[in-house]
Amino acid sequence: MKILVANLGSTSLKWRLFDFSNSPERLLHKGGYERVSDYSKAIRDCLAELQSAGHIHSGSDLAAVGFKTVIAQGVSGCVRLDESVLAAMEAFNGLAPAHNPPYITGIRLFSQILPGVPLLGLFETAFYQFAPEANMRYAVPENWYQLGIRRWGFHGASHKFIAERSAELLGRPDVAERARRLYVDGGATPVSGPPLRIISCHLGGSSSITGTLNGAAIGTSMGLTPQSGLPQNNRVGDLDSFAVPYFLRQTGATIDEAERQLCKEGGLKGLSGVSNDMRDIQTAADQGNAKAKLALDVFVASARQWIGSYLLQLNSVDALVFTAGIGENRAELRAAICASLDQLGIILDPDKNAATRATEAVISSASSRVKILVIPTNEELVVAREVKRQLERP
Ligand code: AMP
Repeated sequence: MKILVANLGSTSLKWRLFDFSNSPERLLHKGGYERVSDYSKAIRDCLAELQSAGHIHSGSDLAAVGFKTVIAQGVSGCVRLDESVLAAMEAFNGLAPAHNPPYITGIRLFSQILPGVPLLGLFETAFYQFAPEANMRYAVPENWYQLGIRRWGFHGASHKFIAERSAELLGRPDVAERARRLYVDGGATPVSGPPLRIISCHLGGSSSITGTLNGAAIGTSMGLTPQSGLPQNNRVGDLDSFAVPYFLRQTGATIDEAERQLCKEGGLKGLSGVSNDMRDIQTAADQGNAKAKLALDVFVASARQWIGSYLLQLNSVDALVFTAGIGENRAELRAAICASLDQLGIILDPDKNAATRATEAVISSASSRVKILVIPTNEELVVAREVKRQLERP
């Protein structure tokens, strides 16, 4: 059984092809195109690459195409992407303007090019379906809530991967199995040991921090939209809701212009005035740029605030996990986030930390009560596994 997972950006197409014929599954191929102007051609080129590499004879060799879909009105989990689901995604375009429209366009093109091949989406909100309501609600009037204004949470595939993999690495196959089966049984799989408490830090172009108990999320830093939580690369992160009407009245800007600035000119880019990329910001900070240094400090302070929140809610933590572009590669930011937490049992090993880049590793010191881990994320694998499970459902 071969499942293609397609990652659709507004001008990019990336993919991974998995083969589930044997256990464990195998990654057969990965690739992608940037600066795509003709999406239909990009999809055909992707299929041609898979053919010429000998992985498929034709599109119909694919058991399914899976997508890491973001958010839809009234729909979550892993579902077939029929017209009703696409309409539900369209209804929430305003919450994910950078993500939903390219996905909807791309999915329609896939369905034209591969008629008969099932298309399924694993929504990024899925991992938070079972989080306590108290952690997912805003104190808005009822009619706002009825419009869907609540915390939804994102990066679900990544945090689910971390929940599974960290449990395996910590010698808790029972919790790994519970995490794997979460969308099948809603957390009914029992665990056989003490509670396993993980705080997973997905730090990248967009960042979120999630607390998990026994493989299931209890809450996350992203709320109604992926524009919330930690400062993002050029998106704002958390902001007092009254900032927007105040800014509009003060400047006479349109709501569209305010939204554009918050999505394109905010975050690390807005704070640093340098770049939306951590590498450039770090270089500028090292050269004495005070705004770049401030951007790093705000990012670190926000990460620590969310880690602290879940540390309290979980009544401790067994492992703190770093993943995604920044979490996997930026030792200096991991060190800043973990600084002066020894009284909480969190002690980094500076040498192990400095030596770890984009690889699985334990980077805490031997005396640290809490394990500090780096785990490269694998969101596409989570999507492919859920798609397979959904296809095999009776
Ligand atoms: P992501 O969205 O997960 O690809 O992460 C993007 C962010 O991670 C950017 O701010 C980059 O500066 C940082 N990043 C990604 N890859 C690397 C790398 N190889 N070395 C250092 N930083 C990286």
